[in-house]
Amino acid sequence: MTTATQTPQFGDTLVLGLGTTGIDVARYLVPRSTSVTVYGGLASKEGPVVDQLREDGVRVVLGTEDVEGQYQFAVVSPGISENSAFFAAAHRCADEVMGEPEFAFRQSPERWVAITGTNGKTTTTALTTALLQGGGLTARAVGNIGTLITSVLDERADDEWFVAELSSYQLATSKKLHPRAACLLNVTPDHLSWHGSMEAYALAKERMFQNFTPADLAVVSIDDAWCRACVKRLEERGLRVCHLTTGEDPKTACAAFVRDDRLVVRIDDVEHDLCSIHELVLKGEHNVQNALAASAIALEVGVAEADLVPALTSFQALEHRIEPCGELEGVRFVNDSKATNTDSVEKALTAFKAGTVVLLLGGKDKGTELDSMMKAAAQTCHAIVCFGAAGPRMEEAARAACGEDGPQVVSAAHLEEALDAGIELARPGDVVLLSPACASFDEFSSFEHRGRVFKRLVADRIAKAKGLR
Ligand code: ADP
Repeated sequence: MTTATQTPQFGDTLVLGLGTTGIDVARYLVPRSTSVTVYGGLASKEGPVVDQLREDGVRVVLGTEDVEGQYQFAVVSPGISENSAFFAAAHRCADEVMGEPEFAFRQSPERWVAITGTNGKTTTTALTTALLQGGGLTARAVGNIGTLITSVLDERADDEWFVAELSSYQLATSKKLHPRAACLLNVTPDHLSWHGSMEAYALAKERMFQNFTPADLAVVSIDDAWCRACVKRLEERGLRVCHLTTGEDPKTACAAFVRDDRLVVRIDDVEHDLCSIHELVLKGEHNVQNALAASAIALEVGVAEADLVPALTSFQALEHRIEPCGELEGVRFVNDSKATNTDSVEKALTAFKAGTVVLLLGGKDKGTELDSMMKAAAQTCHAIVCFGAAGPRMEEAARAACGEDGPQVVSAAHLEEALDAGIELARPGDVVLLSPACASFDEFSSFEHRGRVFKRLVADRIAKAKGLR
């Protein structure tokens, strides 16, 4: 706690949630607040973490969402919906309620760029960071990508750029957040139970631009209706908007698009012809979008074209995102476990030749509409294997889309059986692709866990076939 001679920066502060965000924010606040109170929520229990926090001087309240007291502000963990009773209770007791990125921004507001969207955030964040670094800037990927922003504030270098991956949850409560450049990649249905409606979800993402001035650059897709509506609103505010599309030149002063298979970015009428789409290691139309978005941000903050291109063309796929993970008798295996919704599967399918994909679909059902994805799958796949809790619904939709003459549709109990069925069905030149369109929690603890198990199973099958085991 604070010593008698120091005046703390903050008065009494409140933290909601006892996950990594809550714990790290509480630790950061302890030396800077008159007092810190953490409410763990209904399911929270005693344990070593709670003991340690108490030892550090934090007041921890467990097993209730009825917040009491009076606080200067509350920092809310991303799992807690702005529509929940817990959130409302915090609102009654605190002058301000904010998410963790908003808090971190207020502590250290210089040199931020930010990325959001339903899909592609992590890839674009990692790529933007690599491009900034390629241009000689000090840059760190933070936020949703896995580094809690607050936890690196103390070690942040004076000239360091934060490239922040922000989720709609984190943006929903932001007020002062003001990146120098930011990108909205796409808005498609996801996380609707948290936000309450598609409109609230889309508007949460748009909050990233709420403090923009014409000196900043908003990079926004024009390839989906929600994003186009956002572009219109931003332009009505007189802001600079870079129209992002995997289609042709939108002819705007700031634009990122494809011309003759080449990536082109124009910033304030100055054009940068970067490279061919075939030079990218990342495959698929969605990665063309991610590459364009990252390039636009990098050019905007001062990376030179000559430095940008080598970094762009050497960037490798991230783990669990269309990640090649082995080959057996001419059949390639690809782990896209991160594809937890239908739109990302549709995009992943664009990375492969028609008729060559054996697609493994299933897991914990998100209950979303399947028609559009199944139509794409019927065109690109050689076979579809449906597994897990969502298996029966996936199978029914796949059969409806594929008909009698389309790709073969089979079902399997779990991921392991699905992989074996996929291996049986695959011919040389095919790709067995785990791009499941579902959450993983029916069988695994996370999409990373699912992806790692898949890779281990693939390695095992390859070793067995080669007589190594
Ligand atoms: P996020 O962090 O937003 O979940 P990732 O970069 O981790 O995004 O990618 C998740 C999955 O979404 C990938 O496996 C890919 O199938 C798909 N994807 C990636 N980029 C895009 C994009 N720009 N548009 C649509 N889908 C995408």
